[in-house]
Amino acid sequence: MKVYADNAATTRTSDAAIQAMVECMKTDFGNPSSLYTLGQHARETLEKARADIAQAIGALPKEILFTSGGSEADNQALRSAADIGRRQGKMHIISTAFEHHAVLHTLEALKKEGFEVTLLDVHENGVVSAREVENAIREDTCLVSVMYANNEIGTIQPIAEIGEVCRAHGVLFHTDAVQAVGHVRIDVGTEKIDMLSASAHKFHGPKGIGFLYARKGVRLSNLIHGGAQERGKRAGTENVAAIVGMAVALQDALAALDGNTRHITEMRDRLIRGLESIPHSALNGDRTQRLPGNVNFCFEGIEGESLLLLLDQKGISASSGSACTSGSLDPSHVLLAIGRVHDVAHGSLRLSLGEDITEEQVDYMVDSVRETVEYLRSFSPVWRDLMTGKAQFIL
Ligand SMILES: *Cc1c(COP(=O)(O)O)cnc(C)c1O
Repeated sequence: MKVYADNAATTRTSDAAIQAMVECMKTDFGNPSSLYTLGQHARETLEKARADIAQAIGALPKEILFTSGGSEADNQALRSAADIGRRQGKMHIISTAFEHHAVLHTLEALKKEGFEVTLLDVHENGVVSAREVENAIREDTCLVSVMYANNEIGTIQPIAEIGEVCRAHGVLFHTDAVQAVGHVRIDVGTEKIDMLSASAHKFHGPKGIGFLYARKGVRLSNLIHGGAQERGKRAGTENVAAIVGMAVALQDALAALDGNTRHITEMRDRLIRGLESIPHSALNGDRTQRLPGNVNFCFEGIEGESLLLLLDQKGISASSGSACTSGSLDPSHVLLAIGRVHDVAHGSLRLSLGEDITEEQVDYMVDSVRETVEYLRSFSPVWRDLMTGKAQFIL
């Protein structure tokens, strides 16, 4: 059996998105900045996609800026807020310890430029509290950046509450919503979000395209200088076909959201129940306040990497944490942030489900993981120490 269970890393591009892109590349290949009819048609196509995307999150078309994906949107959001802060003499930024590296590494770069960064604790359940955000806000705070949903453990943050706090204190609020857009309903107005990052390939759109929402009045800084595209805030000829594919994918995702959420959540909970029956295992992150498709477990006494390779041989595509940190031997910064100790964090597994997941596939995954964990434990020295009492079980 084949199971693709790594939808948090990327999703299959939908047929509808592919079709729209091919059509666009064939007939709408003009440069949207050109004045003749062919170019102007491409411009109309581009602006229609922008309007559709804006509507999907409750924004205005002019508040949507197309980027190469989530990483670029995160970089531009943080850089822009930092520039605004610097102009006002506010050099303090609040974020969390379990952000994506596109945020954390940008913050590192800003620290070298003199910014002070407070990284909030995310608690054992992987959720940040709005109260703690509020307590961390100072006179010189220019930005709060808290992700909408975590990419490893899937926990959903109290975004509307944090938005409320930030608005009340006059502090800009950015959210990396790459895991959430197309998976949960978002309204930037009611949730008081000033900036939001999204990426098409996480909701069945193509890779290499995303967008940054920036509320009217929030001045963006350029990462890419050149032509006057994107209201002068991001130079370079727009990738019209990819943008169209993204708009189609997002509209389709939202049209099917309620039914998909019901089905995926049911499959997720079935998978969680199955994996919990494996001894000395634990779910990472809050049980209910998490993305419909996210399951993340730790198994004591094994290495996540070995588990992944053996699951691959059984036809299961999974991940040990995020795709971005695989290849590094360090345990996930997200699991450490929720208080898992190194040894336990090493034995992690993320299974992220898509809407086409079936009950048979879930049961197959449970059986495969159980067998593989038992097999790996059978020759693990760490497991032997635990069994003989030389070391203490944590889970
Ligand atoms: C995937 C992801 C990103 C990066 O998006 P890209 O389009 O791959 O650059 C950023 N943040 C989160 C939370 C993600 O899951």
